[in-house]
This record gives sequence, C-alpha cells and structure tokens, in this order.
Amino acid sequence: MRPEVLFPLFADVRTLPGLGPRLARLVARLAGPKVVDLLWHLPSGIVDRRFSPPIAEAPAGAIVTMTVTVDAHLPPDSPRRPYKVRCYDETGFLHLVFFHAREAYLARLLPVGARRLVSGRIERFGGEIQMPHPNHVLAPEEAASIEPIEPVYPLTEGLTAKPLRRAIEAAVARAPALAEWLDPAFRRQERFPPWREAVVAVHGPAAIGDLDPMTPVRRRLAYDELLANQLALALVRARQRRRPGRVLAGDGRLRARLIAALPFTLTASQRRAVEEIAAEMASGRRMLRLLQGDVGSGKTVVALLAMALAVEAGTQAAIMAPTEVLARQHHAVMAPLAEAAGLSLALLTGRDKGKARQRILGGLADGRIALAVGTHALFQSDVAFRDLGLAVVDEQHRFGVHQRLTLGEKGRGAHMLVMTATPIPRTLMLTAYGDMDTSKLTEKPAGRPPISTRALPLSRLEAVIEAVDRARAAGHRVYWVCPLVEESEAVDLAAATARYQALRERFGTRVGLVHGRLKGAEKDAVMAAFATGEIDILVATTVIEVGIDVPQATVMVIEHAERFGLAQLHQLRGRIGRGTAASICLLLYAPPLGEAARARLAILRETDDGFRIAEEDLRLRGAGEVLGTRQSGLPHFRLADLGAHADLLAAAGDDARLILSRDPELASPRGAALRTLLYLFERDAAVRYLRSG
Ligand code: ADP
Ligand code: MG
Repeated sequence: MRPEVLFPLFADVRTLPGLGPRLARLVARLAGPKVVDLLWHLPSGIVDRRFSPPIAEAPAGAIVTMTVTVDAHLPPDSPRRPYKVRCYDETGFLHLVFFHAREAYLARLLPVGARRLVSGRIERFGGEIQMPHPNHVLAPEEAASIEPIEPVYPLTEGLTAKPLRRAIEAAVARAPALAEWLDPAFRRQERFPPWREAVVAVHGPAAIGDLDPMTPVRRRLAYDELLANQLALALVRARQRRRPGRVLAGDGRLRARLIAALPFTLTASQRRAVEEIAAEMASGRRMLRLLQGDVGSGKTVVALLAMALAVEAGTQAAIMAPTEVLARQHHAVMAPLAEAAGLSLALLTGRDKGKARQRILGGLADGRIALAVGTHALFQSDVAFRDLGLAVVDEQHRFGVHQRLTLGEKGRGAHMLVMTATPIPRTLMLTAYGDMDTSKLTEKPAGRPPISTRALPLSRLEAVIEAVDRARAAGHRVYWVCPLVEESEAVDLAAATARYQALRERFGTRVGLVHGRLKGAEKDAVMAAFATGEIDILVATTVIEVGIDVPQATVMVIEHAERFGLAQLHQLRGRIGRGTAASICLLLYAPPLGEAARARLAILRETDDGFRIAEEDLRLRGAGEVLGTRQSGLPHFRLADLGAHADLLAAAGDDARLILSRDPELASPRGAALRTLLYLFERDAAVRYLRSG
C-alpha cells in the first residue's frame, strides 16, 4: 500500500487549482496525469525580470521591467490591427500592443495619466519600441508581486506558461516533508538538502546556474530517482536469489550432436558463454543471465546449446523472439539442427490458430515437444509446459520490463537467459538490470570478411544504382533501406514505395518491397523470396533492422542515413557481412550534414565494434535522447541525466546493495523511508517483493 503521506501527490492533476478538463489534458500529456508528475517537470530556463533600462535603451528581444506613464489609448482603424496603448518615460515612448483586445478591460488596467509597472519582451517594429502583450501590468506599489526570476518550463502546443506555472506551484505546495531515506554521512558529504527543500528549490531557480545538473539540489533529486531504480532492481534480484534454482546438469549428449551438425566450429567466446551458462544452471542458483553480443556474433547457437542442455537434464526449453519474422527465422535455423540431434521442436506464434495450435499446446503440456520457438504468444496464459527448465528471450530490448517479468513468472523455477541485440552501454545496463550476470560474445565468427562503409551525398544516387547493378549481376543481394521520417509512417511508406518503383523500372521483378504495414504472411513471403534469391534487391523500411540473416546479402544502401541513430545504423549494417564475400555499406546522406550526424557517420566508418558504438551513441546523444528509449524497455529517467550523473548511478548501486545486505526487508526506520521512496518513484512492484510489502 502506498504510504498515506504520498496521497496528495498521487491525485489527478485535475485536482490542482486552475486546471479545467482541457488544460488538465494538456498538462497530463506534457508531464503526466498525476500531481507528482508535475514535480518532475523541471524548469529548462529562467526569465530574469530585474533588467530595467530606460525605454530608449531597451534592446529588442530583451525581457524588461519598467515604470512608465500612460499617455494615450490608440484603438485600431481595422479589427485586424492591434490595439495600442502609448506610454512614456523621460527617454521616449513605449507602445503596449494588444491583439484581440478587450477595450473596457484595457481602459481599467491602463488609465491615461496613471503610472504603471510593465514587464515583458521588447520588440522594435516600424520605428516604434513595442511590448506586445506584457506579462505583467501593475500599479507601482504592487511591484513586490513580480518575482524577479521566474522559472520557464517546457510547454506543449495549446498550453501557455501561466497556467502550467500555477499548477506546478500548487503541486510543489503539496509536496510533504518526508522522512529522510539517504545515508546521513553521504548526504552531508554531498551537501544535499532535504527532499522537500530540494523540490521547492528546483522549481524556484534564482539564477541560470541553478539549472545546472551539478547543483546539490539537482543532484539530490537525480540521486533519489537512481536510488529508487537501483533499489527496485536489487530487490528483484534478491528475491531471485532467495528462490533456489533447480540443478540442471546434462551429460552433453545432445549438445555434442548439435555441435557435430553445425557447419562451423564455435568461437572461443561462444564456448565460454555456453560453459558459463552450464555452470550456472547446475549451481543450484536460479539463473538470470544476460548474453550480450554484437549483431552477427552468433548468439542463436549459444541459446540452442543452452536449450539442449535443459533437455538433457529432462526439462523443456523455449525461446521467445520479438517478432513473427524473427521467430520463424529462428525456427528455420534451429529445425535441421534439432532434427540432427533428435530433438522435437515446435513453432508457436500468434498466427497459429485452431487445431494446429491445439496440437502444439498439447505437445508442450505433455512434454512430447522438448523445444519451443515463438513470439510472446508462447507466454500467454493458455500455454502450459510440462516442465520448462530454461526460457530464452531474444532481442530482449524490444520487450518491455513487464513482459520480461511475466516471462519469469511463467516458468516458475525456470532459468532465464536474455539476449541483447544491441550491446548496451554499461551505464544503461546498470539501470535496466542492476548487477545482472552477463556473458559476452566478444569476437565474431572467424572468416568474416570486413565490411567497408562509405558515406555519399544523395547526389551520387546514380553511381550507387550502378554499383547495385554490378553487385546484382555478380550474384550478390542488396538491402535498400529507406528513411525513417518520424512524424509519419505514411510518409515513410511513400518514400519506400517510390524508391521501390524506381528500382523496379530499372531491375524488373527482381526487386521486392517490405514494410511495417504488410501482413505477416506477405512479409514472410517477400523475406523468403530474398533469402532464396528469387529477388535480389530488397527495399525496406526499418523492419529489417532486427535479426534477419541472409548470408548472400553483401550490399546495404541506407538512404538518408543522417536521420538514423548510431545504434540503428550499426544494426542495419550488421545484416550484411554474414557470408564469405566482401560486403559494402553505402550511407547516403542529404547535405549539409549537422555536426552530430557527421560524427555518427564518422564513427561508423571507423569501427565495427558494437560495444564501442553503443558507448559513443550514449555519449553523442545523452541517455535521455537515445532514441526510442521508451520503447526499448530501458528505463526513462526524469531527473537523472546519465551523462552528468554517472557517478551517482554507481553510488546508488552500491548504496542499494548495502541497504539490502543490512536490512533486507526494509524494516528499519530508514527502510520505511526507502519504501516511501520506492512508491514516490512508482516502483510499487518492487515493494511487493518484500515479505511484508
Ligand atoms: P546474432 O548474434 O546476431 O543473433 P546469429 O546467431 O544470427 O547472430 O549468427 C549470425 C550468423 O553467423 C549465422 O548465419 C550463424 O549461422 C553464423 N555463425 C554463428 N556462429 C558461428 C561460428 N562460430 N562460425 C561461423 N559462423 C557462425
Ligand atoms: Mg539474433
């Protein structure tokens, strides 16, 4: 149960003064639906109203606050023109400018002859010094009601600064004093203010420097958020460890058969990973292990060997892929190997219905089927395994945290292996998993020819098409990826379709098109045609980003490469260079390149090391910016900035471990405060892992 002291913060934003349904909706969209969300909506700037020049010296664009005398009202001669009020001081005239003015109101606000304090932005227009729609118009004796420094918040269309500020002020006023959850020595050392003070201070910056992420106020709030994150992960982990894992030890019989059936020998990394997995599955601990490996490093076969081990030990194993296409591909790769080893393997996706589905469900339930490949359909409630010993999640970053957790629940005692498609920078790893055990595939299979990567302006399109033609004529296959236009899937599709048509005119029916709007079966058909060589140019939107494996593909053209993120480009490039022939990646860009895009393309030309690319990506974009973080299943922080606060993340991780080693049930007074912290950051699920949660 959420502590009562937090109730006011978890009320709907509609309960805040001045927020009617329309504004509340906008605020909810901008910051979030609850009062607490407004606390986390931090100012991104300040307005300094202390600048008070004489009228004649007021620079255009500046925010000024000045005392003036009202000289005359100048109603417009046409309704489309603004209403003006001319004012003056000893240096000149200032015109206050109002569009859609209510005259009676302005007459009362600005009586001729009165002195007024006005504050707003100066514009110079047609020889006049103007202040359109002043932010403040007050009698001089009310001067104290103007705050010299106002926070400026990020806004959204339709929402203006004033109502948002009022709502945030009201939210801050509701922030209760909370019992301190931080270690006193650490708090002193960092000069952190108490939580409530920090919230008040962060919304009341006194100078631009107060917006710096390195101030004690901002660091305190960031630390709280990171500590909640790390503590929640540590709790999940602790529970995992408390549950004894079943000892699964095999005799190696099936693994040996699989290895014999492979057309290649395992890399040293792959062998080591399999050994680590085997050791942990036999250890009596429940495995929750991450297998990290760059695209093409050969994670699939590691998974298959681990699954075979589970079967040797008398249980079943399943692997879940994020998309239908990938599940089918895994099945296609694994089926002949499984057959050679005498293992029964089934594919289960959302597309399997009726009798076929029933047959598979029956086989899983009675154990006739040892291995299952599927999408998340595998883990729906009507799917029961006789005895699931190992669950593997491929390309896990595509799944949300929730899906990952339900998967763990499914195979109650089951060991778990999660595989990342993209290497994740260490900092993000920590926030997503805490100190999870990891196996890494650090080398690529031998004999892979290098991929040469070139960046070309779009004006070289014709030369690129020539190169494609040569590759095609020599029997190679070509991916042609069309740009991602964020705002609109329809525009994406139009661009891809146009390119498809243009290439088709040139190359005839040997060109295919695949995109996200295609039905599953249609998509499979095009992919299959590309895999078998029926077509040799595949135009695609980014749906091919993940996992597809066609060794004959040696050319990757990416149009408008400047619009893609670094990790995404690396993923795309990983689709080629999988066979024995030399491969080439052509990054087509629209000049002029921005600085960031230039840096991205340079890094790609320089290195093929996914781990390094992941770190560079984080550095270039900042964790908050890593595109698609929300969809990626990685946590999204509102107060912490992993670029600036990496030291705090490490400290929070240590803190969380220490806290749980001393007070595993959070039963002490500090423990109670920490529970409040978990609720404050909506880590309620983690609290439930406590015995007395
Ligand atoms: P990823 O790690 O991206 O999932 P895959 O498991 O799809 O990589 O493997 C990529 C390709 O490399 C596949 O065609 C696979 O058969 C091949 N492969 C995997 N391991 C080896 C190896 N040790 N030697 C040669 N080729 C390998
Ligand atoms: Mg893979």
